[in-house]
Amino acid sequence: MERALTEAARSRRADLQGRGRGRGLLLLEAIGTLIGESGDLHATLDRIVGLVADRLDMEVCSIYRFAPESNRLFLVATHGLDPSSVGTVSMRVDEGLTGFVIEKSEPVMAIDALAHPRYKYFPETGEERYHSFLGVPIVDRREPLGVLVVQTSRRRRFTRDEVRLMKAVAVPIGGLLVQLRLLESLESKEEERRGYQQRMLDAIKRLQTYERQQPSSSEPSEVTAVRLLGVPAAPGFGIGRAHLLVPEVSFASVPERRPLAPRKELARFQAAITQAAEEIERLKQRVQASYPEIDAALFDTQRLMLTDESFRKRVADEITAGASAETALERVVTAMVDEFTRLDDPYLKERAVDVKDIGQRALRNLLGVAERDRSFASAVVLVAPELTLSDILLVEPEQLKGFVMGSGGATSHASILAKSLEIPTVVGVGRVEAIHEGDHLIVDGNAGTIYVHPSGEVLREYSRLKDEYAAFNRELDSLRTQPAVTRDGCRVMLGANIGLLGDLPLAHRHGADRVGLYRTEIAFLSHRDFLSEGEQVTLYDRVAQAAKGLPLTVRTLDLGADKYPSYLNVPREANPFLGWRSIRVSLELASVFKTQLRAILRASAVSPLRIMLPMISSLEELRRSKELLEEAKDELRREGHPFEEAVPFGMMVEVPSAVQLADRFIEEVDFFSIGTNDLIQYLLAVDRNNRKVASLYEPLHPAVLRAVASVVRVANQAGKPVSLCGEMAADPVCTLVLIGMGLRDLSMSAFFIPVIKRLIRSVDIAAAERVTAAALELATVKEVKRHVFEVMRALDVIDLMETYH
Ligand code: PEP
Ligand code: MG
Repeated sequence: MERALTEAARSRRADLQGRGRGRGLLLLEAIGTLIGESGDLHATLDRIVGLVADRLDMEVCSIYRFAPESNRLFLVATHGLDPSSVGTVSMRVDEGLTGFVIEKSEPVMAIDALAHPRYKYFPETGEERYHSFLGVPIVDRREPLGVLVVQTSRRRRFTRDEVRLMKAVAVPIGGLLVQLRLLESLESKEEERRGYQQRMLDAIKRLQTYERQQPSSSEPSEVTAVRLLGVPAAPGFGIGRAHLLVPEVSFASVPERRPLAPRKELARFQAAITQAAEEIERLKQRVQASYPEIDAALFDTQRLMLTDESFRKRVADEITAGASAETALERVVTAMVDEFTRLDDPYLKERAVDVKDIGQRALRNLLGVAERDRSFASAVVLVAPELTLSDILLVEPEQLKGFVMGSGGATSHASILAKSLEIPTVVGVGRVEAIHEGDHLIVDGNAGTIYVHPSGEVLREYSRLKDEYAAFNRELDSLRTQPAVTRDGCRVMLGANIGLLGDLPLAHRHGADRVGLYRTEIAFLSHRDFLSEGEQVTLYDRVAQAAKGLPLTVRTLDLGADKYPSYLNVPREANPFLGWRSIRVSLELASVFKTQLRAILRASAVSPLRIMLPMISSLEELRRSKELLEEAKDELRREGHPFEEAVPFGMMVEVPSAVQLADRFIEEVDFFSIGTNDLIQYLLAVDRNNRKVASLYEPLHPAVLRAVASVVRVANQAGKPVSLCGEMAADPVCTLVLIGMGLRDLSMSAFFIPVIKRLIRSVDIAAAERVTAAALELATVKEVKRHVFEVMRALDVIDLMETYH
């Protein structure tokens, strides 16, 4: 009986699979016929999307074309989305799930696209109704041509057969897109001519419309919905009325004035500077009281700039040469802003805003104008061409719903601050002047979009998204106090990687067990010189205090490659990642290195911490570093500075030579931390920052897995702690394999901790060990991924983080 039932089930499955295959062949045949009859390429694409949607029983099927010159995707055909969005909807490749398909060069699937971190809302398409998403790349000789997408409103998984079929369907569509490209290049000359004609016609139409509007009404013009694009700088959705920030005083309108005697002008300037420094100090106090999580170093940077000797001297020289204090200040600030703006380093470039901010503050004091009160009765979104720290901090946080900045990047102080305050922020918005005081705004800090006077529909949609986003965060929040322990009781420690003091509140919020990596070089990047020992002791103490008892792994400077402070004389290098970077810099600048070791040691007297060396590639480097550590300890003993004698001293394993020599290294260190960000690039010879080869950068490459597994084995056999602190630790697809290797300590950006925790809490370590054992036997990335996905599916742990790799 049982056998008969099994037989029946098997034959039914075979029948269904057969029918599935038959369905696929019929679809491909029908597409072939359509193409054979094709007269018009666009009409053919339209018919294909209709056919695919119909035969696969999907509500939406769309084709997007990839334009490499603009790195954007354009919707060229759709069944199910608003047809008027064809030709109008386009997205950057780093936006949305469709872009993700191009980035990955592989199918991407999301059961609930709306909750997926890469989801981007395009109101024109009406696609918010559709929850499940499957996109496959359309390629021609390895070059991406576009993406074929299907969507359904019901939350569902797509079967492996459906993914295969979509890939097969993408092949003939690829041929059509190549033809389309050829056709367009032939038409481009004609297009140019038509374009010119069209522009003339448009201009005439605009003129006519303008003329029609002129006499017609004295009523206020009707508000029109506008959508502005920028760079997302702090996530979340904010809704409120626009408040435009206009500075109280401006250098552009400083009244010409005959200077007093230079001595008097100098005294006025000095008084203005003193007053400005006091204001900044008060601001700092106020911020520390109302925003305890904000890194006060931000204000110290401004105060340092203000009291900087060379700044004062430059202004004093102008005054001595006959300028008034205002004019002298204006000249120096303008020159300094210009100097900062021309710097290559994006972080330092953005300090130009701080220079303007302090200049403005000093000018206001010179002119005797008081600071404006900025309290609001209702929700506001602050809008300015440029927002300064002071602008943000003068507004009461309860009413602040968003920030919109015309310029600036994601690492400006205002953006960093916005992130710590968790206020949705979009920067680099090209047309901020399209926003007027009191305009109704939606700030989408996830997608980098601003809606001015959104329609009721968009507003409702965003209110819903806002609630869903909050619910998603609440769900993950509920895991905060739960340990990352597998169902069969195996505990995994989840650490946070930090660079700024401001990262620590997030680490606590997301339930980090420790700080697995503190990148000390980040603080050095925003200073004008190496930090002194005292400055470093203060900084590390503050970080340790803010860590509130979480054990801290402090990594020594990892400068060079893509992290240059302006004061470090880095030679121009053909291959900076293979050049003068990291421990090589520290060992050459031995006194800087020893100063840092002394500072970390001194901080160890009060807080539990470990010292970690980056990028060790030879025993000589390790031994020389240990000598310097011993020298630093001797000096501190002699000077009577307390420190923890037994402070653990470890190294990152992130260079292939360290993997090969792991058994030798482990004898000489207290712990390992595997830095897969670098290890992958060095092992696979794939630049971690080069988009062109991004698809080759593969954490699940068998060579990477073997390397990581061998390091873990060596450390475990030696009975010494080993952790992993590269981005791989935050990739849910890698989690099973990593814990199955025996890793019990993963460190990542705090944001990912809840997701990884949720995954660990849903599996057994025994299952993870089996996955790893099997994965280590496989020879290709594809095989590894297929295996991992199959197991994750069988364990039912593929959820909304799901993507096909
Ligand atoms: C790494 O290389 O994996 C790592 C954690 O260090 P960083 O990203 O700072 O190079
Ligand atoms: Mg590294």
